[in-house]
Amino acid sequence: MNNSLANIPKAINEPILQYAPQSHETEALKAELRKQKNKVVEIKPIVNGKEIETGLVEQVRCPHEHGHILANVHKVTPEIVKSAIDSAVAARHDWMRMDWTERAAIFLKAAELLATKYRFTINAATMLGQSKNAYQAEIDAACEMIDFLRFNVQFAQEIYQNQPVSDKGIWNRLQYRPLEGFVFAVAPFNFTAISGNLASAPALMGNSVLWKPSTTAVLSSYYLYKIFEEAGVPAGVLNFLPGDGADVGNPVIESPHFAGLHFTGSTQTFNHLWKSIGNNIGNYKSYPRIVGETGGKDFVVAHQSANAAQVATALTRGAFEYQGQKCSAASRAYISKSLWKKVEPILLEQLSELKMGSVEKFSNFVNAVIDKRSYDKITSYIDKAKKDSSVEIIAGGGYSDEVGYFIEPTVILTSNPNYSTMCEELFGPVLTIYIFEDDNFAETLNLVDKTSPYALTGSILAQDRKAVIQATDALTDAAGNFYINDKPTGAVVGQQPFGGGRASGTNDKAGANLNLLRWISARTIKETFVAPTHYGYPFHQQ
Ligand code: NAD
Repeated sequence: MNNSLANIPKAINEPILQYAPQSHETEALKAELRKQKNKVVEIKPIVNGKEIETGLVEQVRCPHEHGHILANVHKVTPEIVKSAIDSAVAARHDWMRMDWTERAAIFLKAAELLATKYRFTINAATMLGQSKNAYQAEIDAACEMIDFLRFNVQFAQEIYQNQPVSDKGIWNRLQYRPLEGFVFAVAPFNFTAISGNLASAPALMGNSVLWKPSTTAVLSSYYLYKIFEEAGVPAGVLNFLPGDGADVGNPVIESPHFAGLHFTGSTQTFNHLWKSIGNNIGNYKSYPRIVGETGGKDFVVAHQSANAAQVATALTRGAFEYQGQKCSAASRAYISKSLWKKVEPILLEQLSELKMGSVEKFSNFVNAVIDKRSYDKITSYIDKAKKDSSVEIIAGGGYSDEVGYFIEPTVILTSNPNYSTMCEELFGPVLTIYIFEDDNFAETLNLVDKTSPYALTGSILAQDRKAVIQATDALTDAAGNFYINDKPTGAVVGQQPFGGGRASGTNDKAGANLNLLRWISARTIKETFVAPTHYGYPFHQQ
């Protein structure tokens, strides 16, 4: 028995590889891309550590080359979901009783495997399966996932160390139990790291998990599962359930053992799941924890005092990296009239330089959007804008799905601050800009606050400190992650805990101890060393 109180290795952010031409990492990643393109992976549901062939096969294709098949995914059946519930409920007993430092060691080992042996595997799978360029894959699938694993171990220790005071003759302790039942982790397509964290964060705290990857990002999540398995996660703790949303979700939400939802995805799906949970509330053993990080309509506000090149760069990077498919992507901008004259030429020049195409050609900044459904949705907004006389497309507007789902970075200028693309989440490479009179800064901040139901990210660019202070105050409730003189994307684990309010989610801050707190149910243990032997108190013994 090891009775030591271990010191956790101090978490530091994983250094980002740069992928310069001819560098070691570029050559290694290109070799891995070739390897993965030359095979078709069979992805099956994994329950209690066993892969199950279901015959309900769907193909996983490259979004930028939809003729190319990367994998066959076997989708779950209701029976498989039921057996996964049984497996998770059974696995909880031993997993929660394992010394927490052993659980921590497993996930720290997973981080190390990702940083070394599997770095290019996970990056290549993310590039090919989700159409991310090399750098975007590196900051997501490798670095952010590694950071989540390392920082969460540190946060878990901080939580476990937090103990109540004890009075004379008694000892009070808090036991941080996992939830009673299993956690349902439901992932979006756009971040490999989010998928892995949705499953691993509750597991670190002793929970067993049903993990539903996104149907359009299943390849990278499958590799992550395999890495967790190699790192030592026991059978049944993580159960991997690829399949269509409702096919997995319905039987899970109906289970009396359902104890928590760890969701990231659209507001619409989250609202649906929350309603289903409400409808089943009488059936559960305990009140489920509901954590959901959802949509965004993220803003950039540029005051007249801002630096024009900084504004243009924040827009180019903030709106168009990963084709605008980050929940934090800038999709509406409010720019002061006098500044816009300087910003517009720089922005248009930057956009004219961006290359679009396959992820395999590293000079491409822009790749494809995730699938046909998304392509159709985004291009329908562009088509409407082309016909609408109240708006003008000043950059991009072109698209083609002949080879892959490619949409040019598109900038719409509008004089109507309530135009549909200023309010609704498109989740693609479309930025809408509204120009305000320099004197209307306060009114514009009010507009930013009121225009959309979301409140995920936003930024203010200004050199005038008064404007920074004014915007920071007026936009207090408009974003869970607020940036000053920066783009509104690129949150780093341990540095900028991530999440928003309003229709953007429950703001439980992935990559912070606030999130881990949702996956535990504390038991208070009071021990009296010498218990009284008579019922009487001094006050009635006169
Ligand atoms: P989505 O809502 O379409 O899907 C998310 C997941 O829910 C998928 O795995 C899907 O299969 C599953 N799902 C759908 N119906 C279900 C059901 N009935 N039961 C169980 N699961 C079900 O979202 P998406 O297109 O994958 O991701 C994009 C969305 O995610 C955007 O709205 C984006 O803003 C949001 N997002 C938010 C954050 C954040 O931190 N706030 C981060 C990333 C993405």
